[in-house]
Amino acid sequence: MEVELIAITQYLAGRGGTEELIERAGRVCYRSESRGNPAAFLRARLREGHESIIEHASATFEISGISRACSHQLVRHRLASFSQESQRYVTMSDPDMVIPNAIQDNAEAQAIWDEFVEEVKTVYAELRARGIRKEDARFVLPNAAATRLVLTMNFRELRHFFRVRIAPEAQWEIRSMAVAMLIELVPHAPTVFGDLLAEMSTAHPDFFEA
Ligand SMILES: Cc1cc2nc3c(=O)[nH]c(=O)nc-3n(C[C@H](O)[C@H](O)[C@H](O)COP(=O)(O)OP(=O)(O)OC[C@H]3O[C@@H](n4cnc5c(N)ncnc54)[C@H](O)[C@@H]3O)c2cc1C
Repeated sequence: MEVELIAITQYLAGRGGTEELIERAGRVCYRSESRGNPAAFLRARLREGHESIIEHASATFEISGISRACSHQLVRHRLASFSQESQRYVTMSDPDMVIPNAIQDNAEAQAIWDEFVEEVKTVYAELRARGIRKEDARFVLPNAAATRLVLTMNFRELRHFFRVRIAPEAQWEIRSMAVAMLIELVPHAPTVFGDLLAEMSTAHPDFFEA
């Protein structure tokens, strides 16, 4: 899995970064002026649940090498934008597959898996050879097929996403993707995401092991 932060909201007025922009939006609510400490302002707003102000900033990630099982969970988040590699237009004759550790660590399970993947490739190729279009041949592909996508979420949705997806109840693959996203974001918006990183890495240090 590769997770890359490729864009993040900038503050064009030249008076700082993303967090200064959020402070500016928040100050409008109170008709007040910045006191030069956006972190303190932001922390106070987040504490009291005045979270709409962090919707003015968003981040865009390119993610590759996750399974379709993972991306299906991801796209259930409606307050986000996605562009995903198409199995209608891209040939899937030799698709990468995401193999769960539970299968990799079990020699018999791995052997069954390998046989299945070879069968999938053979059937896909035979269907294509008979003139079946990619959009129909793809029906034989499993949830394990790796995919690539770009996603954009605003900071409020990202905080919600991290809360539900970096939790013991979350599934391991989307959790490790969410952990990688959070770690990439924190240096760019430490006040908005630093508390989550501290809280979650303390509660579940094993989720944050490389
Ligand atoms: C551990 C786990 C297990 C899950 N199991 C299943 C499962 O078995 N089957 C299944 O179908 N899904 C399952 N889900 C998916 C889950 O139900 C949500 O669809 C998914 O997490 C997206 O989150 P969200 O609804 O908060 O959407 P987001 O788009 O992230 O929405 C953000 C927030 O906006 C608000 N919101 C957005 N749209 C609406 C709306 N239409 N009405 C009111 N408020 C709205 C809500 O407050 C929501 O939390 C599971 C999720 C988790 C984390």
